[in-house]
Amino acid sequence: MQEKPKILIVDDKPENLYVLEKLLQKLEVTVLRAASGPDALSLTVDHEFSMAIVDVQMPEMDGYELVELLRGNRSTSRLPVIFVSAIYADEYHHRKGYDAGAVDFMSKPFIPEILLNKVRIFLELYEQRREIEALYAQVVGFNEELEEKVQQRTLQLEKAYETLEKLDKNKASFITVIAHELRTPLSLVKGYAEMLKTDPSVKANDMLQTMATGILTGAIRMHNSIGVMLDMIRIDNGILEGVVESCFLEIIVSSLQKELADVLTERQLTLSVDLETVPAIVGDSELLHKLFQHLLLNAIKYTPDGGRISIDGYLIEDATEPQVEIVVRDSGIGIDPDYHELIFTKFYQTGSAALHSSGQTKFKGGGGGLGLAIAKGIVTLHNGRVWVESDGHDEENCPGSAFHIVLPVEYSLSE
Ligand code: ADP
Repeated sequence: MQEKPKILIVDDKPENLYVLEKLLQKLEVTVLRAASGPDALSLTVDHEFSMAIVDVQMPEMDGYELVELLRGNRSTSRLPVIFVSAIYADEYHHRKGYDAGAVDFMSKPFIPEILLNKVRIFLELYEQRREIEALYAQVVGFNEELEEKVQQRTLQLEKAYETLEKLDKNKASFITVIAHELRTPLSLVKGYAEMLKTDPSVKANDMLQTMATGILTGAIRMHNSIGVMLDMIRIDNGILEGVVESCFLEIIVSSLQKELADVLTERQLTLSVDLETVPAIVGDSELLHKLFQHLLLNAIKYTPDGGRISIDGYLIEDATEPQVEIVVRDSGIGIDPDYHELIFTKFYQTGSAALHSSGQTKFKGGGGGLGLAIAKGIVTLHNGRVWVESDGHDEENCPGSAFHIVLPVEYSLSE
């Protein structure tokens, strides 16, 4: 149970103390008496008072002196005081009482009900102050707890991030080593398969020819996949270097068009290109070739047989620095707007990879989820921007997708 509020009464006359105590007993309070200023001071050492009622005229130390001393002490500096005085009931002495920090003043003889009312108000104020202090202490406690938790979580997160970074670095160097290790024997397989394919005795035998072609196609595909992995690692480590040269996007796209001619025919896809008005831009043609290769392969993969793909480009006239915009558009299955940004992060694929059909150029053919991350890395290296526009994913109505790329015409590659 909460302790009753304590009231300190100070008077040198026992009969006054007696009367006052009797009167205050009408309230839910504990009354402590002091017959002098020094007595009162020593009581405040052991008790916390809600208020004090102090007689002004006392020998040794008068009421004002006592209250001044109380004000100087941290624990009693805000103690409400009612001065009671028989003699100095004029305005001057009222003022003196207030200056000493008192909150109220009563002249003797006092009317009991008025004194009780004043005391009640002080007690209410005291209760309110106590509640506020308790709430404040609670808030401070919560705050400290919260801060500690946030600090702990931050530390945990920092540690987890460090571990992840380490793991990511390990993974990256593992992939780099494996990729380089695979490349050498793969080049041998590729080289021998090419030799086999052109050997007259193999050429004369249809079955051997089919087998040699199969080996070669597989080896080329593996070679490409390894190349894509290495590109991603280079982008991740910021070491995708660009060679600064004049690049004709029309020439780059037309060479890709030739490379993919068989696939386009096989999948009955039409590819129209309009890059006539696009000027040569400063960049790395090998990387730009990869950029459009990824975008075109995706357009092929995500467009059903018989669909349309287009690549259009133009110079953005109103840009302060000349820029070109290229749009790779397809009539494919489209992309849900929720994924328009996510698809550019590495390994991100919409839908389940298990549902993808195999084959790099088949409808919904499998991929490693790196194509667009690499495309974005290449565009960023050229100080450009890439984004996708599509009404949504719909495999029946095929709303299509449009990948926009904006590249500066004259810009040295970013660091
Ligand atoms: P993936 O190897 O899976 O093709 P990408 O990084 O190239 O990886 O693409 C990420 C995802 O973006 C794909 O899994 C696919 O869901 C979606 N996507 C990319 N291009 C297209 C497109 N032209 N049409 C529809 N979806 C696309």
